[in-house]
Amino acid sequence: MPSQAALRGFSRERSAGIAVPADHTIARLHFGDPCFATPRHIVDAASAAMNDGYTHYPPSYGDPDLRTAIANRATHRAGRPIESAEVLVTAGSTAAIYCALTAVLDPGDEVLLFDPSYSLYATILNQIGARPVYVGMTEQLRPDRDRLERAITDRTRLVIINNPANPTGVVFNKAELRAIGQIAVSHDLLVLADEIYDELDFTGTFTSCLALPELSDRLLYVNGFSKTYAMTGWRLGYAVWPGKLYDYARKLAVNLHSCVNASAQYAGLAALTGPQDAVHKMVAEFDRRRAVVVAGLNRLPGVSCATPKGAFYAFPNVKRTGWKAKALASSLLEDAGVAIIGGPDFGVLGEGYVRLSYANSTENILKALDRMGEFLTSRKAA
Ligand code: PLP
Repeated sequence: MPSQAALRGFSRERSAGIAVPADHTIARLHFGDPCFATPRHIVDAASAAMNDGYTHYPPSYGDPDLRTAIANRATHRAGRPIESAEVLVTAGSTAAIYCALTAVLDPGDEVLLFDPSYSLYATILNQIGARPVYVGMTEQLRPDRDRLERAITDRTRLVIINNPANPTGVVFNKAELRAIGQIAVSHDLLVLADEIYDELDFTGTFTSCLALPELSDRLLYVNGFSKTYAMTGWRLGYAVWPGKLYDYARKLAVNLHSCVNASAQYAGLAALTGPQDAVHKMVAEFDRRRAVVVAGLNRLPGVSCATPKGAFYAFPNVKRTGWKAKALASSLLEDAGVAIIGGPDFGVLGEGYVRLSYANSTENILKALDRMGEFLTSRKAA
């Protein structure tokens, strides 16, 4: 089994036909897995729970204390009371997104999502026979109210807001959210708000969709522990949904996973109710790495990168390199040992961009940037 360090950063793995660099490593900047260990007090809480015998089926909707802790956090975000009865604990926010979309959509329903967007949404929509309708953003990759409204048809059921956004690192402001909210209300659309990067807001301008009262009866809110607490492997997430919608999703979730790992839920409880210093340290470190990655990318030939405002991704424009984004990503992997993702994997308007995650060590980020620099100066676009 590869070491955790290898999985997070550089690995010694070598696939047939891939000419990775002489030191046989791949700089893995393609995925969003924080390179930090889960904070010690969270791990200790899980291990104490197991030692204390919490090794049986927990309640289907989630441990009551954890649901209360989540409701408190959501109440704080919303500025209005959120009841623990509206909270469903899920196996990662992925399961919450899956339950939300599957519970409310029928085949043929249309769902608006910004282009580019996190690819999971379209994958799930395609699986259930619903239609992802990509809506272009402005030049600065901000939501465009008019384009959103023009994309609505009589089959449109739902709009997805991921804020702060993967892959662009954009943080939507309150006015933008309000504009989307107004459209949702006037066209009677549901809103799926995925706020898994809510702590990774470097601008201090993040507003939760929970804080928009006009959305309260149509909001399918999802969040999780993976990014904020470096807990990707624990598979712990949650949903906050209003009454009638909660019931559909609850039934689906119970069929899907019956309940969520008991010790992971104790870890989640410790994460929410314990000290938050580790979160602040990780966010500060991501902020430093953000500066390193943006400065490094802007020094590469043909690359320009706006400073991302949230999450932990850089989404540089690579049009002037002459490379198509996906061809660049695969050549960088094969010939330079750098793993990144071509923008078109997030929507057609992702062409001309690539996504790099800076949830990796500064050393690995710098190594990846060096390799990209060497590659782009020595190789002609394919
Ligand atoms: N939502 C977004 C926008 C993500 O980027 C990710 C993971 O990268 C997820 C959800 C899934 O997170 P989880 O680990 O909670 O399933």
